Amino acid sequence: MQLRDTRDQQRFREELRTWLRATLPTLDPQPSQDDWPARRAYDSHWQALLHQAGYAGLNWPSAYGGRGATPTEHLIFLEESELAGAPYVGVNFVGLLHAGPTLIAEATPEQRERHIPAILRGDEIWCQGFSEPDAGSDLAALRTRAARDGDHYVVNGRKIWTSHAEVADYCELLVRTGPPDGPKHQGITWLIMPMDTPGVGLRPLMTAGGSTEFSEMILEDVRIPVANRVGEEGDGWRIAMVTFAFERGTGFVSEVVWARRRLVEIAALARENATWEDSDIRRRIARLAAEFDALWALVKRNVSEAEHSADGVPGPGSSVFKLRFSEARQHLDDVHAEVRGRDALAFDDDLCTYDGEPSYERLRSLAYTIAAGTSQVQRNIIGERILGLPKEPSAAGATKGGGR
Ligand SMILES: Cc1cc2nc3c(=O)[nH]c(=O)nc-3n(C[C@H](O)[C@H](O)[C@H](O)COP(=O)(O)OP(=O)(O)OC[C@H]3O[C@@H](n4cnc5c(N)ncnc54)[C@H](O)[C@@H]3O)c2cc1C
Repeated sequence: MQLRDTRDQQRFREELRTWLRATLPTLDPQPSQDDWPARRAYDSHWQALLHQAGYAGLNWPSAYGGRGATPTEHLIFLEESELAGAPYVGVNFVGLLHAGPTLIAEATPEQRERHIPAILRGDEIWCQGFSEPDAGSDLAALRTRAARDGDHYVVNGRKIWTSHAEVADYCELLVRTGPPDGPKHQGITWLIMPMDTPGVGLRPLMTAGGSTEFSEMILEDVRIPVANRVGEEGDGWRIAMVTFAFERGTGFVSEVVWARRRLVEIAALARENATWEDSDIRRRIARLAAEFDALWALVKRNVSEAEHSADGVPGPGSSVFKLRFSEARQHLDDVHAEVRGRDALAFDDDLCTYDGEPSYERLRSLAYTIAAGTSQVQRNIIGERILGLPKEPSAAGATKGGGR
């Protein structure tokens, strides 16, 4: 593991800083959180700028428009972008952070050629259609059915908690192609679903923070070409694990940098308003500082491991990161609320942008221990795959390999 920049990495960092300093002032202000067309336009514009400058898909193969850089350079990019206050991936989250990497690892050359460059240019937005009303942690219990009809699958079912579905062009969709009463981890297939296919219905869902970032997706006789299948029929569970490895392994990396920056602001605020006199507040801030430093080191370790693995896919260490980061992130918002006192209860709809209002951030942080697999499920995965503890009993409803 290399913790310090090499000379090439240092040069890369300097060039990037220069580009960010010149480019960020040219951006419009971020749109409000529920103006989805404006958010799509804003996030796509940022992605297009990155693409033109050669910073899109840094560690993706150059044959598909990426830069072919090492994962370590990718980390440098995320770190510097966050420190400079650059926009986050936003509605490009699924495409850039896990659908795209899954396609690179598992798709056919035609599928890659079709989608990877478009994702990198910011022309194609993706969403994730995995969870169902009765299949969240126990994802393998999914029931959305895909029946073969010639060179199409005909899909019927319901998906839930589909983030950014309203602005998505494509969906990474898990369906059941095997018999409903067969072994549940077999008979699952990973499909690319164009969101404008007839039969795809969306019902927006409101979060506690007042945002409509989720939808319920109702699929009625949706015809998806067999050519849109990624991997073999029935091999979708394995491919979904590849998707999760990217989602948990590198999906939250920028947020560690954000959290470290926010902690410095909280400490400064505590000094200003005298809450710093409280030794418990000081102790909690110090513990979080140590925790985020350790998490950043863990990110580097996980990335370094993926860099040296044959397939480039992060290992189960990504679950350790996901578990600790999501819990530390919630502690950060708790300390912030105590330091701000009654102010922390203010909720100003006008200020409530994606990354702004602290009370909104606190509500949003509740989602971290649920999204991309809950903390309990990450503990199961760590227990089984890293510590070698016995698997959960395989009674009906139990989850394989620790679940989602
Ligand atoms: C911000 C956010 C964004 C999301 N975006 C998407 C998306 O775009 N696409 C998508 O498909 N899904 C998405 N999800 C859904 C997410 O993946 C699920 O919420 C998650 O997998 C948990 O499933 P569930 O909500 O059905 O809870 P359940 O699985 O019903 O779990 C309920 C509780 O039981 C616990 N539990 C369940 N099984 C076990 C077990 N075996 N051992 C111990 N405890 C267990 C859980 O930890 C949890 O506390 C998103 C969720 C959030 C919060």
